[in-house]
Amino acid sequence: MKVIRTIAEFRNHRESFGKLGFVPTMGALHQGHLSLMEQSAKENDTSAISIFVNPLQFGPNEDLSKYPRQEAEDLEMASSVGVKVAFCPSVEEMLGRNTTSVTVSGVSDLFEGEKRPGHFTGVATIVAQLFGIVQPNVAYFGLKDLQQCAVIRQMVDDLCIPVELKFCETVREPSGLAMSSRNNYFSPDEFERASNLNRVIVVCAKEIAEDFENRKSAIESAINELANLEFEVQYLELVNSLTMQPVTDQKVGQILSQKLGQTEKESNPYRIIVAAQFCGVRLIDNVPLPNPLAN
Ligand code: AMP
Repeated sequence: MKVIRTIAEFRNHRESFGKLGFVPTMGALHQGHLSLMEQSAKENDTSAISIFVNPLQFGPNEDLSKYPRQEAEDLEMASSVGVKVAFCPSVEEMLGRNTTSVTVSGVSDLFEGEKRPGHFTGVATIVAQLFGIVQPNVAYFGLKDLQQCAVIRQMVDDLCIPVELKFCETVREPSGLAMSSRNNYFSPDEFERASNLNRVIVVCAKEIAEDFENRKSAIESAINELANLEFEVQYLELVNSLTMQPVTDQKVGQILSQKLGQTEKESNPYRIIVAAQFCGVRLIDNVPLPNPLAN
């Protein structure tokens, strides 16, 4: 495993990497991150990651200073799934002379964009910079951060950045809880109870798929159930994940009542998204709307 800490050194080596797959991360790696890295290692000559806890994407009252940092362990884990290069720059190296920022409007306006002002500008700015440094052929992102995927897709499209994007399904604990570096903050009991978030949105997605007309009451009862389980819900909504807008029309209902072909099933953009505070930790999750007639 080659660890590179400066932009100049990465540039010097880039040509020797051939077809390069890239997984940007903030470290504190878990199986969710590793699944992206495994895919990247399989599909490219060289698989690279970055580990950079990006200060620009944290709000003033968020957990930047206590975000878990464990570089040596991370490098070992990444290496075990075939990653050959890790770009681990300092904050000074990335942001020392940074006066440009990238704001992606539209897809970043609602949900996380509303609850975490400035977050997506912080993400897009650093991902654009990392793409410029690493110059990957393919970059891998997790659908766990659904709106982030929409923001990166839009940015790459709008700025004509020559990179192929791959979005990969969320890796979960056996309980259904989406793996996240922030799960480290939970006690064992809280960790178990946090899985209710996924359980409730899976039920909600199923109810909406079966009875689209009653989607509002399905969403309302999911919010109420989560409140009874000590979740402070910030949003819970049915969205089109390409536009990150709530679904308000009948189109989905019509689509759901038809039998979908395989391609349409794979590209089903309709998802239930949720963000909630639980035992002092902010959790996000999302699941696709199943199609009861498609199987
Ligand atoms: P982070 O270190 O949290 O910035 O995440 C780095 C990448 O890993 C992002 O593309 C995330 O969406 C992805 N990721 C995080 N958790 C998971 C998970 N449970 N399953 C799949 N991908 C994930």
